[in-house]
Amino acid sequence: MKNIAIIGAGTMGNGIAHTFAQSGFKVQLIDISDASLERGMATITKNLDRMIAKERISEADKLETLSNITTFTSIPEGVKAADLVVEAATENIDLKLKIFKQLDEACHKNTVLATNTSSISITQIAAVTSRPDMVIGMHFMNPVPIMKLVEIIRGYTTSDSVTKIIMELSKKLGKTPTEVNDYPGFVANRILMPMLNESIETLYNGVAGVQEIDTVMKLGMAHPMGPLQLADFIGLDVCLSILNVMYDGFKNPKYAPCPLLVNMVQAGKLGVKSGEGFYDYSESRKAEKVAKQFLK
Ligand code: NAD
Repeated sequence: MKNIAIIGAGTMGNGIAHTFAQSGFKVQLIDISDASLERGMATITKNLDRMIAKERISEADKLETLSNITTFTSIPEGVKAADLVVEAATENIDLKLKIFKQLDEACHKNTVLATNTSSISITQIAAVTSRPDMVIGMHFMNPVPIMKLVEIIRGYTTSDSVTKIIMELSKKLGKTPTEVNDYPGFVANRILMPMLNESIETLYNGVAGVQEIDTVMKLGMAHPMGPLQLADFIGLDVCLSILNVMYDGFKNPKYAPCPLLVNMVQAGKLGVKSGEGFYDYSESRKAEKVAKQFLK
């Protein structure tokens, strides 16, 4: 595989593009507007500069990485040469089904189609294409250039050979791919989200305050970040939507989102991205400080 098309230049898409480009792949980064692509490229440049400052890469590595990325605002044009497409567009089922139908028509018949979805069924996405055996989940973790795990999700129809190709490819990125099956939340979110939800429930029940809950988990369980801070960092709307996917998928009340989480999302308190969640990020650069603390 040489040419990798990435759909979406947001938080995850630009990180995935950065990671492939730094490993020597040719990347076609696609988004709906020039403004989104410019923002994505600016983030990649900033992250490469940070790596230079930490003496992890050279100036020449940065230039080579950037020269491996070409940007497009049209899916059919951007995916023409792709051996693999990694879709990292907004987490919305209708949007993803539409994109995969489009990809199926525009891509070469040998192109593997992967999605970075956090919670949507790979099997359902695969079913709208004429190549369900060649559709797979490639769930990178945020921030992509730093986090080692890629959760490789086999849909009901994903072939052994495609799974093997994607496992090997992930290793070439310096990642540790881990194969799992396609059930709601896969493995990462099936375990993480109930823990975050229980932390919110603990707060809701008045057992302890925000700082106290996070301190117990940070110092007592050696978590790098407390669960409430992590929920803020992921986005409370994202946590709610993943919990709802698991609640609907398993029909099990243990995944029911805490009413406090629902209220906060309805009030627009989404965590770092909205300036307020369990913590207050309203002072101009506080949100970035939280992210940097996590990156260290
Ligand atoms: P984001 O909102 O930061 O970025 C989404 C990007 O997709 C935006 O730039 C948007 O313009 C673009 N987009 C929307 N429709 C498009 C289309 N039709 N064609 C091309 N681009 C389009 O979202 P994100 O956080 O990067 O999440 C992307 C995916 O990654 C989601 O499926 C999400 O569940 C998954 N994910 C997110 C995280 C995380 O921590 N943020 C972690 C793992 C997986």
